[in-house]
Amino acid sequence: MRCARPSTRRYGSGAASWTDPCAAAATGLRRPALLHTWSVLLVLGHSNSGSHDEASDIEEQPVGDRRRPKEWVMSNVAWIGLGHMGIPMSKHFVDAGHEVRGVDIEESARARARENGVEIVDSVREAVHDVDVVCTMLPSGKQVTEVLTGPDGAFAHMPAGAVAVDFSTTGIETAEALGAQAREQGVGFVDAPVSGGVIGAEKGDLALMLGGDGEHVTAVERFTKLVGEYIVHVGPSGRGQAMKVVNNAMMGVGMAVSCEASVLAQRLGLDPQVFYDMVLRSSGDNWAFRNWFPLPGVVATSPASHGYEAGFMVDLVAKDLRLAVELGTEHDVTMATSQTAFELFRRTSEAGAGTRDLTALALELGAKVDPPAAG
Ligand code: NAD
Repeated sequence: MRCARPSTRRYGSGAASWTDPCAAAATGLRRPALLHTWSVLLVLGHSNSGSHDEASDIEEQPVGDRRRPKEWVMSNVAWIGLGHMGIPMSKHFVDAGHEVRGVDIEESARARARENGVEIVDSVREAVHDVDVVCTMLPSGKQVTEVLTGPDGAFAHMPAGAVAVDFSTTGIETAEALGAQAREQGVGFVDAPVSGGVIGAEKGDLALMLGGDGEHVTAVERFTKLVGEYIVHVGPSGRGQAMKVVNNAMMGVGMAVSCEASVLAQRLGLDPQVFYDMVLRSSGDNWAFRNWFPLPGVVATSPASHGYEAGFMVDLVAKDLRLAVELGTEHDVTMATSQTAFELFRRTSEAGAGTRDLTALALELGAKVDPPAAG
């Protein structure tokens, strides 16, 4: 076993006794006992924010915005899906010194990744043949299943024991099926959907919700912590997706109500900046409103201030809300607000804005922006 994990870590409350896999290997234990227990808080914080008693294990050697641990091991990594999230996330892997091979069907995505130091290859097979980890960041379960399974898929060609980490939002069923298939083919699979948007991906401080076997989660820890700050192993395959679908139902509804409230505020003649500042100190505040305020010129980092260019596409939030509504039906839970938000985003997509940022719902609802945001 190569013990390569950076040794600096912070523990959150309720995560008092996580067992070190390297120490476990040295003492002959094959698995840290606690990894059999779900809901273990695995990793918090970047390597440059750890506790002082562990700081001596870290070389004073900047690597991107992180420091490289003494036991650092360069890995070959495959990255499939180099879009809004995949580009900044894969860059952290390059910055940490790993050899990243990338695949994407779009030339513009390939060109941006190349600029970041990703070696672009033509096929999944070529990307994965000698890697420790295969990362996917694709639109939906359909594409993830396509690239991981089948005779040309990653599972068939990645080394035995390597682990595929799927950061995409795919739904529970896809993740469960992929977990079972990976097991049959002698490779690992972890569903690892993320929250925090493009800005979280750029900063490397995403929230990660992991589903999979403890040994695979542990094996990829040194990779997941390159992009995540709050990382929780929720349970077996599919549990990460369960968490993500529920979270995104709340985000989608939050965004939808934030869009309609912002348009109403505009019609009532409220100054957008004054409205925003007041809501942040009032009971209407929510994450989507705060970070993605849907009228331009108030939140500099909101896509609304950049011509409603995604960001997080309308079609993707519609997909997430559809997953939530379907799960509600399956589990006999009324998902009326998620259903309504889904209809609003679907309508926006049908009006031609499917690849625009989800804040473009405000335009669909009649927001007046100056100059008019091109459709
Ligand atoms: P995106 O569409 O920008 O990126 C997906 C990339 O995958 C594109 O570059 C596309 O060309 C590529 N692709 C599609 N099919 C492919 C295939 N068969 N082989 C290789 N490449 C292929 O999407 P994104 O915004 O980066 O989101 C990716 C995933 O992350 C989605 O599941 C989304 O729901 C989730 N997510 C997105 C955000 C966000 O803010 N954008 C936040 C959290 C989670």
